[in-house]
Amino acid sequence: MLKSFISTWQNKRHQPEEESTNNSDRVRQTQIGSHQSFDQKLSVGILLAIICTTLLALSIVTPTYRDFTLSRQNLHDIRQYRLVLDAANYLAAERGPANIVMSEEPSLDSAGVKRLAEFRTRSDAALAQLEVKSVSYFGLHDHLVPRRMLEEVRNQLAIARSKVDRIAAIPRVSLSREEIQDAIDSMFEVSDRFRAVIAWNASELVQHDTGLEASALIGQMLSDLRDYGGRVGSEIVAPLATNQRMPLQNVIESRQTQGRLLELWQLINSQTTLYNAASLAASRDEIDRAFFRDGLALVDQVIAEGRRNLHYTLTATEFTNRYVPTMRPIETYRTAFLDGVVEHFVDVKTKALMTLAMTVLITGAILAILVGIMLSVRSHVFRPLMLAHDNVLELAADRSISPPARAARAREIRSLFEAIEVLQERLQERAFLTEELKRQAETDGLTALLNRRMLDRFAQLSSPQDRADRSLCLILLDLDHFKDVNDTYGHVTGDRVLIQTAELLRSHLRASDIVARFGGEEFAILVPGNDLSGAISIARKIRLAIQTETFTTSDGTPFRVTASFGVARGRRDAWPELIEHADAALYRAKSEGRNRVRFTRDTLPSPSIVPSTSNVLTLTGARRPKTVR
Ligand code: GH3
Ligand code: MG
Ligand code: MG
Repeated sequence: MLKSFISTWQNKRHQPEEESTNNSDRVRQTQIGSHQSFDQKLSVGILLAIICTTLLALSIVTPTYRDFTLSRQNLHDIRQYRLVLDAANYLAAERGPANIVMSEEPSLDSAGVKRLAEFRTRSDAALAQLEVKSVSYFGLHDHLVPRRMLEEVRNQLAIARSKVDRIAAIPRVSLSREEIQDAIDSMFEVSDRFRAVIAWNASELVQHDTGLEASALIGQMLSDLRDYGGRVGSEIVAPLATNQRMPLQNVIESRQTQGRLLELWQLINSQTTLYNAASLAASRDEIDRAFFRDGLALVDQVIAEGRRNLHYTLTATEFTNRYVPTMRPIETYRTAFLDGVVEHFVDVKTKALMTLAMTVLITGAILAILVGIMLSVRSHVFRPLMLAHDNVLELAADRSISPPARAARAREIRSLFEAIEVLQERLQERAFLTEELKRQAETDGLTALLNRRMLDRFAQLSSPQDRADRSLCLILLDLDHFKDVNDTYGHVTGDRVLIQTAELLRSHLRASDIVARFGGEEFAILVPGNDLSGAISIARKIRLAIQTETFTTSDGTPFRVTASFGVARGRRDAWPELIEHADAALYRAKSEGRNRVRFTRDTLPSPSIVPSTSNVLTLTGARRPKTVR
């Protein structure tokens, strides 16, 4: 039964602990909740920062990427445009051998015929090339010449060529100037049609990027320069080939074309945006000398001879063979210019690629550093702080904590955990001291038995459900003539007697009994229940045990001690009365000679537990005058 007292008492004792358990549960729930929300908030924050930085990086990278794709497309366009200009050049160049073939006697394998065949193959290949789609990759797109335009050029070319071939097959004596002129005009018509192709392509480039305008325009002008240069010669070939007087019409056309040539040349020279300026300057002088001076002088000479109705000093073939080379500087100039344009756009593309690569690298590095910093802050600052937060809450809830993360990198976080460790040690020390104080407050320092205060508490504790629990027997015992022990053997020996007596009492008691030092050389034993005779027999056994126990002084001298006992039965709710009764019985034991057990039944009415009439010893005059409690 006492077990239930003790458990009740212990429950009461542990009540604050339970409260702290509840508190700590609450604390833990709070801390888990706060962790999750903190961690979630941090994760969302990191995600947002990454998204914003990525957007920022994209806004920086996108223009440079656009520059790069534009420069790549421009280079591609310029290369395609160059193919168109090349084709124009080949078509114009085809007129030279055609004029020669028409001026010579019919032959199937003359040098002129072979040359014409070669030139035709070259222009056909150049035209075919314009229809070839380039392999489109990474968004590059072609500006292919519309098939319809090319067909028109091809048809006209076929007509012109058939005229040339027909004339080439006629012996020179049967040739008429008009027929040759018609064939030459047909070849001019081919170039005129192809000029539309160049104009279309130039406008395509300008529409795509106005930065290409100058290159497209100058390319077009240079193509015209080559075409008109050839025409100046071709326009006087028919009278020359038929050895007829030079008609005024031919002279006018040739002069008009010369006028256009000069205009064009001035226009080209006024351009300042030429990319290959140094090498073009050298070609320019060569054009002035070879073409505009020597070439046109040759034309003037033929016109002059034709107009004066003299014999031409040159045949048409000789004229063509001398005139065509004067146009070579124009070819060189055209090639140098187009090379310069392509080089420029290659350069622009390379620079754009470099800029793009640098931008991607730098923004990528910034993004990586930012993400790294945020993740590092999360794992090296935020999470350790949360752990420190948990540790502090655990300590507040009076629980031990797992060893803190000593390996933390940041000095401040390390010192935080060291401080938490110190805090934990201090709290442990405090807990130990509190426990010690409590123990000291509850027990007697000499005998380690419960003290009087605890005895009172135990005696008055009861479980409200158990009626039997309310009954209680008390044995009070007092060592006889203890003053004499002190006086005879000294106080230290007296203390040892008290300690040995306490051990003896402990060894005679059941687990449910409680023994306490009542004061001085007096002890009390609580025997739960209403079994008075059981309590009396316990008292008797102990009395005998003390009597037969050998005590020794510090120098080993044996002596004996006796004790007197007072036993009483009562109720927990009348504890002071119970003490009085036991004390009175003890007094009686003393007064009747000591070393004996005396008892009294409870005087308080407790019919259901103890009969109130039987074996009642009167206490009248039995109070101990010298004991005041
Ligand atoms: P009686 O048989 O009538 O009880 O005589 P007594 O001498 O035992 O009783 P008394 O009340 O005259 O003396 C009690 C003595 O117990 C007095 C005191 O010095 C001694 N005493 C009380 N507490 C201690 C203690 O803690 N240690 C020691 N050594 N002696 C103590
Ligand atoms: Mg005493
Ligand atoms: Mg005594």
